Amino acid sequence: MVLTLAKKYHPYMIDLRRHLHMHPELSMQEFETSKLVQDELTKLGIPFEIIPGSTSVMATIQGAKPGKTIALRADMDALPIRELSDCPYKSQVEGTMHACGHDGHTAALLGAAHILTDLRDQLSGTVKLFFESGEEFGGTIHIAEKEGFLQGIDHCLGIHIWADIPVGRISCSPGARMAGTDLFTLKITGKGAHASTPNQGIDAIVAASSIIMNLQTIVSRELFPQEVGLVTIGKLTAGQRFNAIADEAILEGNLRYFNSALSDEYPVMINRIAENTAAAFRAKSEMIMHTKGTPAVINSEADAAFGQKVISRLFGQECLYDLPPLMAGEDFAIFMEKVGGLFVFVGGGFPHRESAPHHNGHFDIDEDSLRLTAALHAQYAIDYLNAQAK
Ligand SMILES: [Zn+2]
Ligand SMILES: [Zn+2]
Repeated sequence: MVLTLAKKYHPYMIDLRRHLHMHPELSMQEFETSKLVQDELTKLGIPFEIIPGSTSVMATIQGAKPGKTIALRADMDALPIRELSDCPYKSQVEGTMHACGHDGHTAALLGAAHILTDLRDQLSGTVKLFFESGEEFGGTIHIAEKEGFLQGIDHCLGIHIWADIPVGRISCSPGARMAGTDLFTLKITGKGAHASTPNQGIDAIVAASSIIMNLQTIVSRELFPQEVGLVTIGKLTAGQRFNAIADEAILEGNLRYFNSALSDEYPVMINRIAENTAAAFRAKSEMIMHTKGTPAVINSEADAAFGQKVISRLFGQECLYDLPPLMAGEDFAIFMEKVGGLFVFVGGGFPHRESAPHHNGHFDIDEDSLRLTAALHAQYAIDYLNAQAK
């Protein structure tokens, strides 16, 4: 039934997705996208609320029978990337495009809203539809939580259409799926002097350069070899003039991990290496910022097994695909940490041509992924609520 309805609403989802693709909006500025979502929900008679300080929409489909509550998530934002392809639905906003497939997520969740409304009689509980703003910018799930919107939700499902997976295949593996990611800043303090008299100064650039090199040994020499970790210095700001010794250097970095304990261990390792390296050059190092970003996305064995059962029954067992974990971050991890849930990748790659990577100007998805995503959202919600009602 779900598959038949997903097919029926497929043209509707394609139209919506192409409209959104032509009119992309950046993170936290999804005003028209959010309005389109609200208009479609209103037409369906689905009540919704706006999450304060964002354009995020939380809608509620009340099933005919009582039961638990599941939330389905679609992110809505586009990226500051110029679209380079010449598809008929090319972005009409110069320098902005849906290069991650979030247009597809929004359209597919609205498709699922139609399917679930048609099947409301079969629902043993409540389905929340969370249209999220600002995902590429750290997301708004933490705001939704602070404002009490996650209260009463028992489980959540997040789906990302993924171009590296061929369309028709779906990855629902247990364990780490996406990395946790933290930010940090080091301030290296030296002493300014004329470039011709380094003996009178303390060169913050030389100390910072050594620190950058030594930090590389955290992953290669300090972590257990089978532990996945990543330490990247993405920005170095130092110096004022070619003929002056720099008195200060600022290093900005990014840390990634699957094991959340590393989030606490990284700063200790970084400070030990940075402070001692700086001291070797008579300079000083201080960590002036360490922010825990989003945690890792981890599927439990039980949730992944349940998801695989739903997918196998819906599309056949052969559709399951093994995608290795990604080092990208995803704030849906916060939702999963708070209420428990599952994260799934639905293939969006073209069968007969190469697919561009996510966040690339040529990015596009095979639109059959919309039908599959909507069907999976709806079927997973129905099956989860039924399983809980037993
Ligand atoms: Zn993205
Ligand atoms: Zn994305």
